[in-house]
Amino acid sequence: VEKITVGHVHLSGCTGCLVSFADNYEGLFKILDNYAELVYALTLVDVRHVPEMDVALVEGSVCLQDKSSVDEIKETREKAKVVVALGGCAAYGNITRFARGGQWNQPQMESYVPIGELIDVDLYIPGCAPTPQQIRNVAIMAYLLLKGTDEQKELATAYLKPLMDLAKRGDEACGCDLMYDVINQGLCMGCGTCAAACPVRAITIEYGKPNVDRDLCIKCGACYAQCPRSFFNFDVMNEFEGITELIKGVME
Ligand code: SF4
Ligand code: SF4
Ligand code: SF4
Repeated sequence: VEKITVGHVHLSGCTGCLVSFADNYEGLFKILDNYAELVYALTLVDVRHVPEMDVALVEGSVCLQDKSSVDEIKETREKAKVVVALGGCAAYGNITRFARGGQWNQPQMESYVPIGELIDVDLYIPGCAPTPQQIRNVAIMAYLLLKGTDEQKELATAYLKPLMDLAKRGDEACGCDLMYDVINQGLCMGCGTCAAACPVRAITIEYGKPNVDRDLCIKCGACYAQCPRSFFNFDVMNEFEGITELIKGVME
């Protein structure tokens, strides 16, 4: 089987997304044995320059004062066929939007932006960190999209489309987006993740549902990036059984 090449690009993130990727244990070995070759990853592969690759999983936001990060993300766009914003920081800035000159040894490091501010991004996987299963599924689906049969490509597209749509929607997200896209759509399950994620305590849970204080919101996108329902898509429901069977088959 011809493998796809995958890289992990580590910008200003906490490594939690990489840990989540690695948390797939046997699933990860299966993917690396059969479907994907890891060609770039700061801590796992001894390669110092961004190589050509099929899929780049980018963790973390870009510090604008750090030239090497700015260069690395631009080079990643040039070298990778598919660029994935892995996790809330890469997609929306998440908590790094709140880091304004707080790094004592490097006080000049004060502006962090999601990768979509600098390059076109093909796909978002929100979450802080995204679940291991979700990263695994995206890796499998990316493989099938690039190397699968026509039928597999169709299902892979159905699975990946909501995440592609998120990337098209842009990298801005605030408490209001949570209201429009999740709560007003009847999708909120009252889990409280958004309130726990908000660094300025702009969200309180009232009668089981989040309430956003717009005056406090700093538009960091953390709530949106971490809400498990913000990337829910009704289209995927129609293909749910086929997609589940496909993933099961690949992992057997
Ligand atoms: Fe860490 Fe969360 Fe950012 Fe991933 S999204 S780098 S887990 S803070
Ligand atoms: Fe960030 Fe809180 Fe505003 Fe959500 S409500 S965007 S977490 S400040
Ligand atoms: Fe609702 Fe999402 Fe907040 Fe959970 S994280 S309470 S699903 S809006």
